[in-house]
Amino acid sequence: MKDLPVLTHWIDGAPGAGSSTRTAPVYNPATGAVQRLVSLASAADVDTVVASAQAAYPAWRDASIAKRQGVMFAFRELLNARKGELADILTNEHGKVTSDALGEIARGLEVVEFALGLPHLSKGEFSENVSTGVDVYTLRQPLGVVGIISPFNFPAMVPLWFFPIAIAAGNTVVLKPSEKDPSAANWLAALMTEAGLPDGVFNVVHGDKEAVDALLVNPDVQAISFVGSTPIAKYIYETAAHHGKRVQALGGAKNHMLVLPDADLDLAADAAVNAGFGSAGERCMAISVIVAVEPVADELISKIADRVKRLKVGDGMRGCDMGPLITEAHRDKVAGYIDIALANGAEVVIDGRGIEVDGEASGFWLGPTLFDKVSLDSAVYTDEIFGPVLSVLRVASYTDGVAVINASRYGNGTAIFTNDGGAARRFQHEVQVGMVGINVPIPVPVAYHSFGGWKDSLFGDAKAYGPAGITFYTREKAVTARWLDPSHGGINLGFPQNT
Ligand code: NAD
Repeated sequence: MKDLPVLTHWIDGAPGAGSSTRTAPVYNPATGAVQRLVSLASAADVDTVVASAQAAYPAWRDASIAKRQGVMFAFRELLNARKGELADILTNEHGKVTSDALGEIARGLEVVEFALGLPHLSKGEFSENVSTGVDVYTLRQPLGVVGIISPFNFPAMVPLWFFPIAIAAGNTVVLKPSEKDPSAANWLAALMTEAGLPDGVFNVVHGDKEAVDALLVNPDVQAISFVGSTPIAKYIYETAAHHGKRVQALGGAKNHMLVLPDADLDLAADAAVNAGFGSAGERCMAISVIVAVEPVADELISKIADRVKRLKVGDGMRGCDMGPLITEAHRDKVAGYIDIALANGAEVVIDGRGIEVDGEASGFWLGPTLFDKVSLDSAVYTDEIFGPVLSVLRVASYTDGVAVINASRYGNGTAIFTNDGGAARRFQHEVQVGMVGINVPIPVPVAYHSFGGWKDSLFGDAKAYGPAGITFYTREKAVTARWLDPSHGGINLGFPQNT
């Protein structure tokens, strides 16, 4: 381990080591080998990075919109031209296959393009002559230093959900990416510098809980955007709010796909396989539960199983359909649910253990796994497994299916598969979930809408990107102005009234 390269933080427009000597291993999940170490910041290191962002803030806040937009335009062009490099980094550290890595980048690029509309989107409002000779108008101004804490499963897209809008709006950023696949963050920061971003506007600090906790209490950090698991999202929300920060904290998920008897079962089976096993199920919008309204379950399961048999699992660089899981420990935890399923009386239709892969045996593999007749009280159903595991629940009616979905503690995404427009319309109205697909299994909204779940999938009231992103990263100021008019002079201690 000693001779391995160490990925350091990105401070003031350049790589920068902190004072901490703690590190964590960064694996290639397809080989199981440690390929580099990443620095884990101390609280003092975080304070240094925040100070850099704070120092850069006044000049960036006061930079003209045209100047800020120029940087974002250049960044968009560079990212689009060099996305192949970034995709390789993602596959190398996360394990997702190249096509999926490129898809992740495309969804991040969308947000950069949305942020290019900031001049229009951040305009204030103006009311003339609210009282005689008095105008009222609103301004949207940046907050200052904002912290972004991101998860392992989208090392490029999730940071891209946030920092383009935050920076375009005039904030400066400290990003704390996942320590499991940290290199994408430095690559993005270097690209922003190449695009002309002044030093200190976008910083990356690597680390674990110690770094996160330091960000949450630093008085110069005005806002926190977090994406990760539900228990940590709740902790972030409570702690950051306690320290007076604006906070949005997106948590975990258990996404259901309701299949009605009239659905096109081939389409539903394709969707279930793509959304269940894409990215090895390590997506917050993955479908992990099929709710099959009888009598379709047997036929649907058989169609899913046929498709799963044709999936090629292996090294993401080799044109496979599905890659490895993020770590050995996570792979073992996910595989453990197969024993739990058996113990809880479910049927294991496909057991992903021992699958043959196109890759090295030492990778963190688990093949697609399919359970039938899962019970609602089994941990297989109640836990977010976050792996290539799809459970089927059988219900008697649409109403029973919606009741199951609405009883879940999570409310991130859901989908209905049907050819009945009335049923779909009823579903979109009744379901207690933040993002709904109708014959679309992964309904991630485009960048000019906003992303976020309900219930334990989102803490706070601010969704990510889109209009919600502009609102989150700016604060409104209302100005009431009167230019001298002698008729309004004189003493009046009463509350201002409009005349
Ligand atoms: P995680 O919660 O373990 O980690 C997320 C971030 O929090 C990382 O940067 C990590 O370093 C930090 N962290 C971890 N433990 C911490 C602690 N005790 N105190 C402070 N900080 C801590 O999540 P993960 O495993 O990296 O990512 C997978 C999870 O993220 C899944 O639950 C998935 O559903 C969720 N996710 C949600 C969305 C969404 O939009 N709702 C999107 C992507 C991922």
